[in-house]
Formats: sequence, structure tokens, C-alpha cells
Amino acid sequence: MSKRALVTGVTGQDGAYLCRLLLERGYETYGAFRRSASLNLWRLEELGVAKDVRLVPLDLIEFTNILRTVEQVGPDEFYNLAAQSFVGLSFEQPIYTADIDGLSPLRILECLRAAKPDCRFYQASTSEMFGKVQTVPQTETTPFYPRSPYGVAKLHGHWITVNYRESYGLYACSGILFNHESPLRGIEFVTRKITSSLARIKYGLQDVLELGNMDAERDWGFAGDYVDAMHRMLQQPQADDFVIATGQMRPVHEFVERAVEICGWQPVWEGEGEARRCLDRTSGRVLVRVNPAFYRPAEVEQLLGDATKARNVLGWKPRVSFGELVEMMVRTDLDRLAAGKPLL
Ligand code: NAP
Ligand code: GDP
Repeated sequence: MSKRALVTGVTGQDGAYLCRLLLERGYETYGAFRRSASLNLWRLEELGVAKDVRLVPLDLIEFTNILRTVEQVGPDEFYNLAAQSFVGLSFEQPIYTADIDGLSPLRILECLRAAKPDCRFYQASTSEMFGKVQTVPQTETTPFYPRSPYGVAKLHGHWITVNYRESYGLYACSGILFNHESPLRGIEFVTRKITSSLARIKYGLQDVLELGNMDAERDWGFAGDYVDAMHRMLQQPQADDFVIATGQMRPVHEFVERAVEICGWQPVWEGEGEARRCLDRTSGRVLVRVNPAFYRPAEVEQLLGDATKARNVLGWKPRVSFGELVEMMVRTDLDRLAAGKPLL
């Protein structure tokens, strides 16, 4: 009999890639979405799996809704990917973020403990919990120091997952994933903001790209590789926590530069601080400039992960390089516009 998986956040980037992977591996795959005026399945559609995922309405704010869904679906594996996932917004909506990202994992664990204690649980934790990093690179034993309401809320999700494993023997894992991107990444995150904006500039639909702190550095991987790590975590003899990362760190301005080149321009930088900008050498056109509105009240300057444990225990390693990732994202956005599709 095929295994049954329940994935929250099915309309998001990771939800789409994970559902595709689970379907490929023969799972009966249930995708939980929150009801809204219009259900947005464009990511599942782009991956060609929208018809194969069994959609169930589920809002993580509502305990009884989770309980009934667990009772009805009876999952063998529960992947909690749903979240208010944008750090920037968490400064505007800290209480909402705390509720969804911090308390929902607890609601789910309580439901599983009551109704399906043999279900394996995956919690989508994040490198943002390391925040003001205490060691470089970061591993599973690096102390946490979150720098945003998002990071603080996710830290509760992480520790409650560990606590339910230790207190009640639940098979509960926390995946500490570093930033992972793809053509399906939300448009407000810096990588996709860069690729979608440059594509729009190329097609005459936008004048200029405005960014905040271009010196921030991230360890960026490909989301398709990272959902494979999630699945591997739930197939082990014992539940545990893992850092998932590429082990390479790049500044935002390097992502910009590569993306500008792939669009066919020749990037040159001018100015410093708020006057810094990137121009096309041939035409002299300003492509990118700073807008301080995109600075954050507290910044995470650098994140660099060490995924040695995942490599040794899970046999996991990233497959897509930084250069391939940038190229994939830029080309997809250019192709979408060429085909007359909106950039969502
Ligand atoms: P994403 O694209 O923003 O997707 C988030 C999903 O959560 C969306 O499907 C969203 O639904 C859903 N959601 C939000 N609030 C909800 C609620 N109250 N009830 C039910 N569903 C709700 O995020 P992602 O990039 O796929 O990331 C997946 C998870 O991994 C998140 O928990 C994120 O915090 C975490 N994470 C991501 C990264 C990364 O680099 N991508 C790194 C570390 C950890 P709507 O479509 O209705 O908004
Ligand atoms: P995060 O690591 O989860 O916060 O992912 P983001 O993609 O939102 O941000 C990555 C880094 O890019 C952060 O250090 C941001 O401050 C920086 N950044 C610079 N300009 C921008 C911008 O315009 N939008 C976003 N989202 N991030 C920006």
C-alpha cells in the first residue's frame, strides 16, 4: 500500500517541489491550502502536478481544523511547510508571524500526539534562527541568535519539535534549511525580485530595480534539491535535526551582477552607500540602485551552512550550483515574458 503524506503550504515554492517529489516516489499526496478568495495553484501547474495532488483546506491558525484533517487523512508523514515566510513582513506583522510560524508547529504536534502518534513529522526550520551568527559556518550545534520576529517565531517551532520528540517519543525532525531559491520563489525575496525585475526591464515593463542591503551574504541553494533532503530526513531509523546548505556564501551584489550578465548587459558599479548603482557599460543605462526603504530594522549580514551531517547520515548533497541557479531563474522569467505570461 502506498504511503500517505500531508504537506502544508502546498501553494508555496517548497510545497510544489515536495509534492512533485512525493508523487514521483509513489505517495498518496495531500496538499493543504488556506482558503482565500482565489486559490493560486500556478506553481503546482508549472510543475505539472496540480491534478495529482489531493487538495485539502486547512488554516494553521485553527486547532480543530488541523485535528479533523489529521483524522480524515491519516498521514504517515506530515510536512509542515506553511508559514508567513518573509522576514521583511515579519517586522510589520510580528504577532501574526509569531502565531503562524511559532505556534502552528505546536498545534500540529498536539494533534499528532492525540490522533496519529506514529505519523512522522517534518518542521520547516530556517537558518534565520542563527541570525547574528555565533560561529562560521553554522552547524546543528551552533547557538541561535535570531534577528527578526520571523527568526524568533521559527525558533519556537524548532524547539517544540525537539521537545515533542524528547518528551513523547514522536518521530519529529527539524530541517534547518539555508536560503533556497528557484523559478517558483516568491517575488518579494531578493533573488526572484532581481530576476523578475531585470526580465521586466529587458521587456520595457519596468525602469529600474531598487534594492536594500546588497552586501548581505547568503548560502543560496536550489529548492528542488532541498525538498529531497526533507524527504530523506523522514526515512531514517531515528528522528534528528539537520542543517541543509551548499557551504558557499555569496553577496547580493554578486547575484545581481550574474543576473545582469545573463540578460545580456555588461554590469559596471558606481558610487557607494545609498548612491551605489549598477549600469550597463554599453548603453550607460542605470539598471539597479539602492532604496533605503528596503533596509531592515535588524539585518542578518551573513549566513553560511555546514551540511556535513546531512551528507554523512542522509547521503544528501546539493546538485545545482550557484551559477546554474541564477541562470535557471533569469531564463525562466525571460521565457515567461516572451510567452506573454505574467510574472507571479
Ligand atoms: P512560501 O513560498 O512563502 O510558502 C508559504 C506557504 O505557507 C504558502 O503556501 C502559504 O499559503 C502558506 N501559509 C501561510 N500562512 C498560512 C496559514 N495560516 N495556514 C495555512 N497555510 C499558510 O515559502 P517556501 O519558500 O515554500 O518555504 C517553505 C517553508 O520553509 C516555510 O515555512 C519557510 O519559512 C521555510 N523556509 C524557507 C526557506 C527558503 O529559503 N525558501 C529557508 C528556510 C526555511 P498562501 O499561498 O495562501 O499564502
Ligand atoms: P531572507 O534571508 O529570508 O531574509 O531572504 P531575502 O531574499 O528576503 O533577503 C536576503 C537578503 O537580501 C537580506 O539580507 C536582505 O536585507 C537583502 N536584500 C537587499 N535588498 C533586498 C530587497 O529589495 N528585498 C529583499 N527581500 N531582500 C533584500
